[in-house]
Amino acid sequence: MNTENRHFNSDFLPLVTPPQRNGNSDTYCFAFKQRELLLVNENGDLRLPSLEETEDMGINILRKQYLGELKDVSCFSMELDSSNDADKIVTSVIGTTTGNAVGTATFVGLRELPGILEEPLAALAGKAVHIMEWDRNTIFCGRCGSVTSLKENERAKECPECGFLAFPKISPAIIVLIEKEDQILLARSPNFKPGLYSNIAGFVEPGESIEQAVVREVMEEVGISVKNIRYFGSQPWPYPDSLMIGFTAEFLAGEIKVDGVEIEEARWFRKEEIPFVPRNTSISGWLIKYFINRH
Ligand SMILES: [Zn+2]
Repeated sequence: MNTENRHFNSDFLPLVTPPQRNGNSDTYCFAFKQRELLLVNENGDLRLPSLEETEDMGINILRKQYLGELKDVSCFSMELDSSNDADKIVTSVIGTTTGNAVGTATFVGLRELPGILEEPLAALAGKAVHIMEWDRNTIFCGRCGSVTSLKENERAKECPECGFLAFPKISPAIIVLIEKEDQILLARSPNFKPGLYSNIAGFVEPGESIEQAVVREVMEEVGISVKNIRYFGSQPWPYPDSLMIGFTAEFLAGEIKVDGVEIEEARWFRKEEIPFVPRNTSISGWLIKYFINRH
């Protein structure tokens, strides 16, 4: 299996309570306005602010959650009011030799982060946005509507009236590389950018195994059956709360017939015919690269 470009993030320890420390220690703050991350522009480089820096920017902070420790650096997610304007944020830049330099702030979309932040920070931003969304979506109990409170020692919100627990929701989805001899099946969703093709993917239904989801999604979207379904790898996919579970499979039978809703076009491609496909920062890109490397 191709393990290249997999970010296992083994240096990160998820926790719900910060460890006891003497004095100040380093922090990373993943602060989001909508789903865009606040970064500080320091001498032309973009970097994450610390928690203290963010709290000193004079911006309107709605909620904050502790995420865990990255090599003894405490990590936080934060939701900012959508009225915060990057142009009006100034931050004194700490640790520069130029004295009282002033940094500027900018908001960056999640998909642009892999080229800006080092791993594992770019991957941690995905966790941070997921926790930030869970925090704002569970202010009230989903069962009785009461105001929830944070549960101790567990990543959950608890309802004081009915006892309902709201954990961060993870929605599993499958994505599958389908091969037919020296060809790969690639498909276009009507929502894709012009010219972009990718693998078949879809959400797992309640009561279904992930292998059953592969068989069903492939049949529903392109009308063919597949065999030899094998696990490939997975990737957290915070758009908004998925876990993409990758498989490889082989064509078994049938003619391509697209559903016309989720898929508008699908066809077999030889290695040299592969069109515009997702970048190598996503599991779809890894699956396509895995095909290319073996043909
Ligand atoms: Zn309740």
